[in-house]
Amino acid sequence: MITTLLDGNRRFVTDVFARERDYFADLAKMQRPTVLWIGCSDSRVPVNTITQTRAGEIFVHRNVANIVATNDWNLSAVLEFSINHLQIPDIVVCGHYGCGGIAAMDETSHDDRYIPIWLNNAYKAKERVDEKLAGLHMEIDSEHRMKLIVEENVRLQLEHLQEYPFVRSAMQEEKLSIHGWVYDMSTGDIRVLQKNTVACRD
Ligand SMILES: [Zn+2]
Repeated sequence: MITTLLDGNRRFVTDVFARERDYFADLAKMQRPTVLWIGCSDSRVPVNTITQTRAGEIFVHRNVANIVATNDWNLSAVLEFSINHLQIPDIVVCGHYGCGGIAAMDETSHDDRYIPIWLNNAYKAKERVDEKLAGLHMEIDSEHRMKLIVEENVRLQLEHLQEYPFVRSAMQEEKLSIHGWVYDMSTGDIRVLQKNTVACRD
C-alpha cells in the first residue's frame, strides 16, 4: 500500500500538477480556504472527493466521530488559525451514517483506553436520543436509532463550537456561520441538518 501511495504521487505530479502548474504555483504562495471542515477520520468520508473541491479550498480537521471538544488544543489551534488568521466565513461539522465512533458508544471495551475518554464528548447525543425515544414510548430498529444519534451528535458539536468565545464573537459580528451536515455513504448525498448564523444564548 505504501508503494501505491508513492506511485499515485508520481501520477499526480505528471498528470495533475503539470497540467495545472499555474494554479499550484499560486497556491504555494498563499492559501485562501473559505470553509473549515470538521469531519470524521473515517476513510470513507474524504472531504475533497465528496464535495468535488480542489487543494486550497477547504481547511480540514478530522477526528473520530467529528467531535468538537472544548479541551482539545489541536482543534482549538485549528479554530483560532481559521478564524483569526484565515478569516474563514463558514465552518461545517459533518457527521456520517454508519460512524464506527458513534456505534462504539454502545460498546463496552476493556481494551481501549483512549476511545471511551474521547467519546465522552459525544455521549450526551446518545442520551438525548434515548431519552426522547423513551419519552415517546417509541421502539425503533438499531440502525434508525444510530442515524438519530449521528444527527444529534452533529447538533451537539455545533453547541460545543459556540462555547469557544472567539467563535461566538465572530458569529455575533456576522463574520461566521456554522453548519451541521450528515453524509450518507449509501447514496453519496450530504444532508443539511442545521445552519446557525447567530450564536445561541448562554
Ligand atoms: Zn465516523
